[in-house]
Amino acid sequence: MQISNHPTISTSADLRPTHVQVDLERLRSNLQAIQAHVGAARVMPILKANAYGHGLVRVGQYMQELGVGSIGVAYLEEGILLREAGITTPILVLGGILGSQAPLFLQHNLTLTVSSTQKLEQVEAAAAAAGVTARVHLKIDTGMERIGVHYYNAESLLEATLHCKHVEVEGIFSHFANSDAADLASARTQVERFHEVLRFYEKRSLPTPLRHMANSGAVLQLPESWMDMVRPGILLYGVYPSAQVQRTVAVQPALTWSSRIVYFKVVQPGHPISYGSTWQSDHPVRVVTVPVGYGDGYFRAMSGKAQVLIKGKRYPVVGTICMDQFMVNIENDSAYNEDEILLVGQSENERITVEDLADWAGTIPYEILTNINTRVPRVYLQDQK
Ligand SMILES: *Cc1c(COP(=O)(O)O)cnc(C)c1O
Repeated sequence: MQISNHPTISTSADLRPTHVQVDLERLRSNLQAIQAHVGAARVMPILKANAYGHGLVRVGQYMQELGVGSIGVAYLEEGILLREAGITTPILVLGGILGSQAPLFLQHNLTLTVSSTQKLEQVEAAAAAAGVTARVHLKIDTGMERIGVHYYNAESLLEATLHCKHVEVEGIFSHFANSDAADLASARTQVERFHEVLRFYEKRSLPTPLRHMANSGAVLQLPESWMDMVRPGILLYGVYPSAQVQRTVAVQPALTWSSRIVYFKVVQPGHPISYGSTWQSDHPVRVVTVPVGYGDGYFRAMSGKAQVLIKGKRYPVVGTICMDQFMVNIENDSAYNEDEILLVGQSENERITVEDLADWAGTIPYEILTNINTRVPRVYLQDQK
């Protein structure tokens, strides 16, 4: 018997009325707007978490077609997926790694993040054993307290790299905790701490590796952090990282999430809708059912708050959102089986954004995007250029 990790049902877009559509031209114009804004700094698009829900492999291929210099992901397996899809662009894995994973990084020609002297030794040993040179970026913790050598202890790690014969330090980076905030004082302190660490190279008259620090928030509001390269994630997809961030770059959402009505009925007063019977009308209403649920990433926490668009008009989601379906009150309007329904997107003059969904769910747009399940097929609107 064969046991497979892959779903046995096809997730082909033809079989399901629901899909996420990604407009590749929007990704290109967002990338170009970011590049124009940061001038001489390189742009490394961040494709972690299934390219923020937009589909890792297709977005990776498209970034390569656009000629980006490198791609950033969070995990080793994301890098391997891109390599297995034939992508040859340099890939930096940004997250924390296990020393035991080092041989796999080398085998797939992935750039490693080294965040301690111990990891450096493990990478050096793996590279020596494989007879190759490992390309690494050093991770400095300047205030995030996640991974990375503390800025006040970094010198010994930088020193140690000088003695590694099988490690090439291509880059050095840090990460902001508050770059999308209104108050940028702590972000500026992080920049200063990073500069302190970089003095190591100046003092020894050594060439400084590629310096990078800026995520989307810092791309938007901290020019002093752009240095040699920036690492925008959510901004590339046309979404701003927070409500308070300054919108200094104009971007447009690339993602639309739509489905089709699969059921229509009239519901009488005294007949509550869905699990828990949390909602009912005091007059007869028309209610349609949509084949999307929290199992697709349409959060149950949005029950009683979410809205959808049908033919350019907003309607409320009523009753508890189920795993695979939810209901919408269209009152006395008409909508029929097969009619399109937008969960995220624009129709006529109305628009529902991932920020709206985040507000309804009590979370941030990042979590909405990255939770759209792989069960939802992704389709791509080709770039006409
Ligand atoms: C996720 C991530 C980014 C991108 O963050 P955005 O806020 O989406 O721009 C950049 N750098 C690192 C290290 C990350 O983990």
